[in-house]
Amino acid sequence: MDTLINKVYELGNNNYCIKEADSTSCYLLVGKEKALLFDTAYGYEDIRPIIQQITDLPLVVVNSHGDPDHALGNYWFDEVFIHELDLGKLFQNDNPDIKKKAIDYRLNKKPELQGAIDEPSYLASTIKHVNYRFVREGDVFDLGQKSLEVIHLPGHSYGCIALLDQDNGDLFSGDMVTKHNIWYFLTNDEQAPFNMAYAAYDKLLRRKDEIGDIYPAHGPFPIQSDIITQLKKALADIKVNHQQDELFESFVGNGYKHYYKDTLIIYSKERLQEFIEED
Ligand SMILES: [Zn+2]
Ligand SMILES: [Zn+2]
Repeated sequence: MDTLINKVYELGNNNYCIKEADSTSCYLLVGKEKALLFDTAYGYEDIRPIIQQITDLPLVVVNSHGDPDHALGNYWFDEVFIHELDLGKLFQNDNPDIKKKAIDYRLNKKPELQGAIDEPSYLASTIKHVNYRFVREGDVFDLGQKSLEVIHLPGHSYGCIALLDQDNGDLFSGDMVTKHNIWYFLTNDEQAPFNMAYAAYDKLLRRKDEIGDIYPAHGPFPIQSDIITQLKKALADIKVNHQQDELFESFVGNGYKHYYKDTLIIYSKERLQEFIEED
């Protein structure tokens, strides 16, 4: 099933990870009546043939948030669910400039992908034809013997959501809970204040007993729920221990790297300043 661009991992419990370019993990969750695809990555190629090899059930597509590495692949689908707070951001990300920078960055990291991406047609693609439907906190996707509850986790993005499997506690956590780095250095209208992220982690921790294995959109999977506590503590730690944090440079801007145990949060000085001033 693997292609040069996408690798498929079987997770058990009829769940699969489709990982694009060693970077974004999209999750295909198969119930008895429907299947759900959580995130569509950059969409460097059509992953529908991969999905069709796994299941022929009707497919529901959901975005964890509106960042380009999770949602530009919506291009390949007719209807996608997203939190309404991230739709504007997704439309902003739908431009050839961002796509070109992302491809160049990826090819630089993975030269073996050279030629695998149809660059002209990718740059000309758009996600605007898709029919968008909104998800809210507490919504449940019933796939038949697999029910996934939407948990709204504003922070890294205002419209971040996670999906919780109500039967076995699998948590598909997008970019909010991960051992990979989490970006908080984009503009303040794209990303929520740290106090909102802090509250989001608190909300998850109140439900810790229901949470089993965690499947993030980047980095290793599964991970365990102690990472949520670490992320909450990491935010508190930035407030007091940021003096030695070093610069991080990327194709969309720069931030500062704060390491805390297994976590790495990359933030802007503005975001930190506003967090400090709340006291
Ligand atoms: Zn993101
Ligand atoms: Zn991401």
